[in-house]
Amino acid sequence: MLSNRINSLPASATLAMAAKARELKNQGIDIIGLSLGEPDFNTPEFIKDAAIQAVKDNYNSYSPVDGYADLKVAICEKFKRDNGLEYQPSQIVVSTGAKQSIANVCMVLLNPGDEVLLPAPYWVSYSAIATLAEAKSIIIPSSIETDFKITPDQLEAAITPKTKLVMFNSPNNPSGTIYTEEEYRALGAVLQKYPDIYILSDEIYEHINYGTPHFSIAAIPELYDRTITVNGVAKAFAMTGWRIGYIGAPEWIAKACNKMQGQMTSGANCIAQRATIAAVSATTDKIQYMVDEFNNRRGLILNLLSEIPGFQLNEPQGAFYVFPDVSSYFGKTIKGKTIENANDFALFLLEEAHVAIVTGDAFGNPDCIRISYAASEEEIKTAIQRIKNVLS
Ligand code: GLU
Repeated sequence: MLSNRINSLPASATLAMAAKARELKNQGIDIIGLSLGEPDFNTPEFIKDAAIQAVKDNYNSYSPVDGYADLKVAICEKFKRDNGLEYQPSQIVVSTGAKQSIANVCMVLLNPGDEVLLPAPYWVSYSAIATLAEAKSIIIPSSIETDFKITPDQLEAAITPKTKLVMFNSPNNPSGTIYTEEEYRALGAVLQKYPDIYILSDEIYEHINYGTPHFSIAAIPELYDRTITVNGVAKAFAMTGWRIGYIGAPEWIAKACNKMQGQMTSGANCIAQRATIAAVSATTDKIQYMVDEFNNRRGLILNLLSEIPGFQLNEPQGAFYVFPDVSSYFGKTIKGKTIENANDFALFLLEEAHVAIVTGDAFGNPDCIRISYAASEEEIKTAIQRIKNVLS
């Protein structure tokens, strides 16, 4: 008999859809996978070279649990250069992906019954990880009308004496929305009134940005001491499989994460950590070609989707997803299949158009679907044409 813990945990919707698409592909069905947020570029050569050198230099032993000392110094420099944040190496913990960084933070901060505020749409695993920590997710809804942003009033209304943590994600997965400095300062002004609330700022899409200046909420001095800034190399450097994420946090939280990780997984992969030194030390011009290409694809997919009736779109400012509101299809029967909600819609597109996308339900917005455009132009064009065909 499995534990209640695992039985109450939903499977990751993004990974589940990717697995399903892979399975159908293996059966010979021509599926186009736009479900996973994964750059289709190769890791840049200078990062691969650093990894090869690390193998040759015999980096094969356990690393310190919280990461190599010189990597932590390089991360501190990155935080200062890109975000204006002053962290000491003792405030940094390197983990096996930003997902583990987030899990560490939740495990060390949350007690059963604590409330975690999730401005929606939020990334699929936030609520699941909060559940694992026996906390309760409180969803703050938003819609396409506000460009998927929450207001300071909404934030304040969601706060109770049990609120322990709020999780922000800008640029946002799945909506591509970016909170400007001014908007973050207005949300921050609310949080300044509640000194017992901690802030997790997931900035993994920081560099996949089409023009809005990135702002780290930890740069608000009054909030620095209770903010955990999460980042990693997966998205910006096309290193998803290398699995390296990290936090900059108050030292006592970093220490606790170190302790948690020491019992769960130990230090992250040693070769990937060495390669990450090259990645985080690089200036952004080294990866601009990927951002430019994502930007082209953003234009392409928005254009193509705007030709499909019933798809309501915002203009994503970062990341590589579109998050159309497709609720106008709910209640309709197409090809003999009744679409009641976004889950049905996602399944319909998989079965009829052979295009894998993810239901918005998993991100806390049941009116939308998420389509990743981290795919080739050819795949995007074919996929959207297929969707158009089955819906027309
Ligand atoms: N973060 C990516 C996504 O949302 C990768 C998959 C995952 O870890 O959920 O598609």
